[in-house]
Amino acid sequence: MFVVDDVLISDDVVEAVFSCNLTACRGACCVQGASGAPLEESELEDVEKALDVVRHRLRPEALKVIEDEGVWEELAPGYYATTCVGDAECVFVRYDGPVAKCSIQEAFYAGKTDFEKPISCHLYPIRIKQLGEFEALNYEEIDICAPAIPHGKRMGIGLAEMLERPLSRKYGADWYAQFLLMVKERRKILGMQPLTPREEGS
Ligand code: SF4
Repeated sequence: MFVVDDVLISDDVVEAVFSCNLTACRGACCVQGASGAPLEESELEDVEKALDVVRHRLRPEALKVIEDEGVWEELAPGYYATTCVGDAECVFVRYDGPVAKCSIQEAFYAGKTDFEKPISCHLYPIRIKQLGEFEALNYEEIDICAPAIPHGKRMGIGLAEMLERPLSRKYGADWYAQFLLMVKERRKILGMQPLTPREEGS
């Protein structure tokens, strides 16, 4: 474990070789789990505004849940999440064939919203835990993400590299640069071979 500006990083994050493979996992993190996407309090308004942009893309089942319950719920005092169709299928999911996709992120890529998606989804499978004044970053290693491990090995991509965008969004580009330097140093100490990124299909 090491620290970058009051953020604790576990060795699991350093060691994980990981690259999401949507064809294989079918975006399972959007539709499985214990609840919808965890939300920071500051994001409640963002998801409400995003609904205006993506409403026409959502499924009737999701629109019914939204009509009855809204787009977020407070699961415990101060703990918020998006609402779900059934137990865990986020109301913002849209299906592209069998693959679950985030309608908010699709709208972001199309230039229709400034809010890319909840930061908890963007960072997944890293989860943030508050430990006193520190935030701790841990790798949540679960079965639904299993295809990402051989894909990461094929592509030469680590979890730390794959999550450059969301980590920079959360903590800033300077923080990320410092984090990545320390990840590479830590990998040497742990005896890992350097990762060599490859082009898809090479
Ligand atoms: S985080 Fe896991 S379930 Fe979600 S897209 Fe990546 S590999 Fe698939």
